[in-house]
This record gives sequence, structure tokens and C-alpha cells, in this order.
Amino acid sequence: MFNKGVFFATLILLTGCEPVSIADKELVKQDNGYTVYFGGDIVTMSGEQASYVEAVVEHNGKIVFVGNKKAALRQYPATLTQVDLQGSTLLPGFIDPHSHFMSALMMVNQVNVAAPPVGTATNIPQIIAKLTAYQQEQNIADGGWLVGWGYDQELIEEQRHIIKTELDAAFPNHKVILIHVSMHGAVLNSNALAWANIDKNTKTPKGGIIARMPNSNEPAGLIMEMAYIPVFEKLPQPSEAEMLNLMAKAQKHYTSQGYTHAVEGFTHTKHIDFLLKAAQQDKLVIDIAALAAFTEMDKWFDNPKYKFGEYHNKFKLHACKITLDGSPQGKTAFVSKPYLTTGPAGQHHWHGESSITQTQLDGLTKKMFTANIPLQIHTNGDAAIDMMIKTVEQAGITAKDDRRTVIVHSQFQRPEHLAKYVELGLTPSYFTLHTYFWGDVHVKNIGKNQAYFISPMKAAKSAGLITSNHSDFNVTPLDPFFIIWSAMARESRSGAIIGAEQRIDAYSALQALTIGPAYQFFEENRKGMLKEGLLADFVIIENNPLKQDVTEIKNNKVLTTIKEGKTVFSILNLVGNDQDQHGCKNSAGYAWCSSTKRCERPWLLAKEQKFANESAAFTEFCKN
Ligand SMILES: [Zn+2]
Repeated sequence: MFNKGVFFATLILLTGCEPVSIADKELVKQDNGYTVYFGGDIVTMSGEQASYVEAVVEHNGKIVFVGNKKAALRQYPATLTQVDLQGSTLLPGFIDPHSHFMSALMMVNQVNVAAPPVGTATNIPQIIAKLTAYQQEQNIADGGWLVGWGYDQELIEEQRHIIKTELDAAFPNHKVILIHVSMHGAVLNSNALAWANIDKNTKTPKGGIIARMPNSNEPAGLIMEMAYIPVFEKLPQPSEAEMLNLMAKAQKHYTSQGYTHAVEGFTHTKHIDFLLKAAQQDKLVIDIAALAAFTEMDKWFDNPKYKFGEYHNKFKLHACKITLDGSPQGKTAFVSKPYLTTGPAGQHHWHGESSITQTQLDGLTKKMFTANIPLQIHTNGDAAIDMMIKTVEQAGITAKDDRRTVIVHSQFQRPEHLAKYVELGLTPSYFTLHTYFWGDVHVKNIGKNQAYFISPMKAAKSAGLITSNHSDFNVTPLDPFFIIWSAMARESRSGAIIGAEQRIDAYSALQALTIGPAYQFFEENRKGMLKEGLLADFVIIENNPLKQDVTEIKNNKVLTTIKEGKTVFSILNLVGNDQDQHGCKNSAGYAWCSSTKRCERPWLLAKEQKFANESAAFTEFCKN
């Protein structure tokens, strides 16, 4: 098949005066200037139906023109950089409605040992091979750690847990820990068990599991729950300096999937502080919106250090996050009718629970509404949703107050909730990947009726609600095409269709990754559409999802991600694409200057600011 990516790369045109050799200020201004994108499907996402334009022009990080190509070239003729999409598709950059950015940061130095589709390991030797490859690539010395994530014994051919001796054979000198996909346990090799002080004399703690070798008291490797928690808490954490260095890689995880906006979905103040610092040091290449954890409200509420609602160097503290109940798959979502199967600890007639009482919730809601801090409430079960509706009603807030309270997940909701959402101005952020990952499990646990109405995108849209669709990364992969596909197909792992009536079309699925989350974060006047005046946040993808067969959508590919006019990810070797992390084109003589917060040409800046035309003087002038 014709490889559009390569074709695209070779046919990008770069006209104008670059590289500029004359120190002419006017010329530089133009050269800094305008980029026109054309030659592919450009979907604006600006209405209820798909609308296409021929060209988009970017200038200074913003969209300055959306329309036909001839008019664009006529209006912006001078030194215009022309990008021919060569049949690719350009959309507004994807907006992540809900994930956990700090998890991405922590996972940068971990190995994906998950089974498909999250990873590629299907048996124990493959898991070991992945760890070995990582150890060699990263050159991790003896005594160092190898941490695997996504380990699930049920999805590997052996259908059993790995035992420590298998890991020891490959890693006699390293500490190895494979964190279970549930995050409630792990398998450790002998060195890691020794580090954790778990041996044959260790008693199994109450509420915990320490698996033992056959006919012996020797630990086998697997530890869970109360035996795992202290080990997890003791695991070495990267230092702040290391974390700052990992910011680029963690953001690449998002940009490689076309996201120009990430969410940190439950942020402790120590991580708010960290993200503030990272922003201050210009380490953010995409927007990161953080939701402050309600459990630490005494630290951030009414504290002048923590201002809500505004971006500073791409970081925004956006809302207060309340976690009202648990998860549907863990059967800890608070539901009105009991689960059909027993609770997580074998309870009969089990409903799940809310994390706080109605009175506590009412207190919190009132406090946030009064302080004008948006609320995002993790609410999965219908009984928890009832609590949430009640609390907003109690506070006297309705749609006309425009608070955009986001119901994060909103999974086991009842049809009659939707009218209430409309009336009260509640906006759901759904999670349709549940239909794939846990659809079969939900049918078993809660029955078809409720399982088929999970993440009811179609009913919500018909009711007039604006919705978004998230990955809850690292709960599921940060893959926009997988998300779009799940919203359209609602197909489970076993191939069952989990609620055919709630399937939506590709355009609606795209809205939930663009304009929907932009609205939920009060940013529809900044992003989520291709419209003059909005940020030039784009994603260029291989195929147009609106023209693809649903079965093909998962194979679509992000080619390039552009944040405010700068290429922040590309699998293409674009001409003129030699930008550094700040988007400065070194080949055109630009270098980043922290003090002016711009890409500068040192010799021009030297002239303008009257310092010596030497690199040391430039460095001195530009340091913060
Ligand atoms: Zn979450």
C-alpha cells in the first residue's frame, strides 16, 4: 500500500526566505510568521455536522485564517510556509478530558509488560524479554530496579503467576517488580523480596497475600493487598530533578497520540507544586490542567499560591476533584440495586459504597460553588449519581449558572438522570473503552440492562448534553483511535456488542475528543475547533475517521502534533522540522531565550538589546 506518511514528508513545501541571511528585522518578522496548511481533509469541528475547509493559516501560535486556499495565499502572500498535507487529515489537537498525567510521568521509566491490546506480551518468556531489552537499552547496572506495569496473569498463555525463580534466572543481580494490572499487587524476584524484607519467616499480614513456593514457606513472588501496600509505598521515587527531566518524555506520550491538552485527574499538592515548577522552568510543551484532590483541601483552598482557572506557561489548576465512589469493574461503584455477584470481599446483596456521606458532599459542593471553583466529581454508580444530583440541587445551582460540573465516568447511570443533567448543567465525561475492557464483566456483575447503558453517548447527545470521552490513563491506553472506535462499535473483548443503541457516529466521537472537553474545561474560546482566533493546536492523522470503516479506525495513525504552531511530535522527517523542544528552528538560526520567552536569532537580539554578538553574552542575557 501507498505510504502516505513518507509521501507527505517528501512533498512538504517550504517557501519564503528561510534561512534568512540578511539581518532585516521586517523580513525576520515575516519569516517567523505564517504557515498555511492545505492539501488534505481539514475538519473544523465547529458545527453539529462535519465541515471542511481548504486551508488553515497559523501565525504566532494562533489560527488567523480558515477558508479556501486561494484566499489564504492572497491574504498572506509574503514568506508563507506552505505545508501540503498530501491527503492526510488535519483536526484540532485532541483534548484529553480525563487522565492521570503524573502516572505517565512515573511510567516513563517502567516497562510495559501488558498483554494486547495494551502491550504485546502474551507469555512469560516475552515478559522477561521485554525486561531484558529495557535493561540493556537503558544500561541499568547491577543492583538497579526493573519495574514492569500492566502485568496480568489471566491474559498470558500460562494462565498463572510468574514465580520468582523465573525472574531470578534472567535477573540474578537486579531487583524486579511486576506491578499487577489491578494495582493491588505485584510479583517480585528474590532480590526485590529481600529488599522488601519478605522471607520465609514473614507472616502474611491480615487482609494480605504472600504466595509461597510449593511445600515450603519460601515466598514465591506474588504479594497482594495488605502485603503489597507497604512495599508499594517503599518503592524508590524519582527525585524532583529526575522528574523534571522526565517531563519531556511524559508529554511525548500524549503528543505521540495527538493530544495537545492533558489532564492530571487527581492531583496532590506536592504534584501541583511540581507542575507549577515545571511550568515555571518552561518544561511544558502542551497544556496541562490539574484537578486538585479534595482530600487535601485544607492545603490548597483559599491559599493564594493556588489560583484556579488560568494558564501560566501552559499549566492551569482547573477544578476540585471529588471521588465519590469506586469502580464498576471492581464492584465498588455505589449502585441502587445490588450487584448480581458478590462484593469484592464476598459480600452478599452488595451495593458498593460512597466514599463520603451526603452531608459531607453537600458541604464540599457548597464551598466550591461559593468560591467559584469548578467541580469534577468521579461518580460511577447510579446511587452515587443520585447523591450528586441531590447535592447540586441543594446548592441551588442550575444550567443557567454555567458551572459545568463534570461527572467523571458517569457509568452506571439511569436514563432519567440525563434530563437532570440538562436541567442542572451537569456535563458527563464518559469512558466508552469500558465496553471493550470490562463490557463482558459488567453484564455478569450488573445485568444487561445497566451494562448496555454504560457511557450512553447517544442518549446523552439526544438529550442535548455536551460530552467528552476519556481513557482515564493509565487505567486504559491513551489512544484516541481506540477511544473513537469503542464509542462507535461498543464491542467487548469477547466480541459482544455492549448496547448497540448507544453507538455513535465518527463525528460525535471526535466531538468528544475536541470541542466537548474544551467546553468542559471552559476553553471553547481557546481550543477544540479550527476557528480564527483560537490556538493553532493541530493533529495531522493518516486517515479521515469520518470516511473510514469503523473496523479500520483503530489502525489510524497520528503523523504530527502541533501545539500553538510548533511541531511537538512528528513521525515524519519534515523539511524545516528541525525544531528543538521549544519549537525553535535551529537551521534557521533560532535559539530559545528564556528571558524573552521566544525563539530568537542571537545576532539580532544582540543588536537590539545591545550586548556583544557572542554566544556567552546571548546565554547570559537569556537566562531567567
Ligand atoms: Zn481517573
